[in-house]
Amino acid sequence: MSQQKLNGKVAIVTGGGSGIGRGAALRLAEHGAKVCVLDRERERANMVKEEIARLGGEAMAVEADVSESESVRMAISKAADRWERIDIVFANAGINGTWTTIEDLSEEDWDRTMNINLKGTFLTLKYAIPFLKKQGGSVIITSSVNGNRIFSNIGASAYSTSKAGQVAFMQMAALELAEYRIRVNAICPGAIKTNIGQNTNRTPEAEEAAIPVEYPEGSSPLEHHAGSPEQVADLVLFLASQQSSLITGTKVFIDGAESLLIG
Ligand code: NAD
Repeated sequence: MSQQKLNGKVAIVTGGGSGIGRGAALRLAEHGAKVCVLDRERERANMVKEEIARLGGEAMAVEADVSESESVRMAISKAADRWERIDIVFANAGINGTWTTIEDLSEEDWDRTMNINLKGTFLTLKYAIPFLKKQGGSVIITSSVNGNRIFSNIGASAYSTSKAGQVAFMQMAALELAEYRIRVNAICPGAIKTNIGQNTNRTPEAEEAAIPVEYPEGSSPLEHHAGSPEQVADLVLFLASQQSSLITGTKVFIDGAESLLIG
């Protein structure tokens, strides 16, 4: 814990128990922030809390479901009660949900994806804003290239719609909260090595309908490999810190130009 760019700041990281959220929680803590690791999987959140403690940082783990109003409200107030402020919110928890044709997608699957990815983002901001307003702060929302540049994943209609909706919501929030010195931005990662794929229910119909994506050899500046949560964490740190003080209402792609080539 050598660098203290975020000393004295308090951060909430939703979906902080795995993947992109875990990477960001560690990076924010490394730079001095106290981190509330919020995840619906208690064990995962605890493990990240312990990892931060081993690195000499300060964290708390809270089990909460971002799609449940009371659960999010209580989680956020726990962090505010303990540290008496909230400066940074990384609204990141999300699922791929079921990838299938629109015809076959159940109403229940549509609702689950919207409730976690889109309503969860709304609820996280709703309950964090009263604390952020006190001194200003930074909100970062994890959207995706899906729904913003990539439309070739046939079967991902609910996921892509939720990710596009997050960007519209981010822009409204940035306008609404500017007067309180609260910046709001979205990040749009391409493929990042995390656990999200394991939980994706891709039906045979979706597999069949998917447009095969052939990536022309040597065409990517990064030779097209999936990114790492650590690379995304660098961007989250930048958007959370004062180094990005003029950046708000923006979506930032982090995908090695993958989506320019195959979008
Ligand atoms: P992940 O599965 O590794 O981590 C997601 C975490 O969120 C898990 O710990 C999970 O328990 C938690 N979570 C899920 N639903 C929750 C809920 N209702 N309440 C609280 N916590 C919940 O996945 P990841 O890839 O790190 O995904 C993080 C975000 O990044 C998601 O919003 C995802 O859509 C987005 N994203 C991921 C990729 C990728 O390639 N991995 C690309 C673009 C965008």
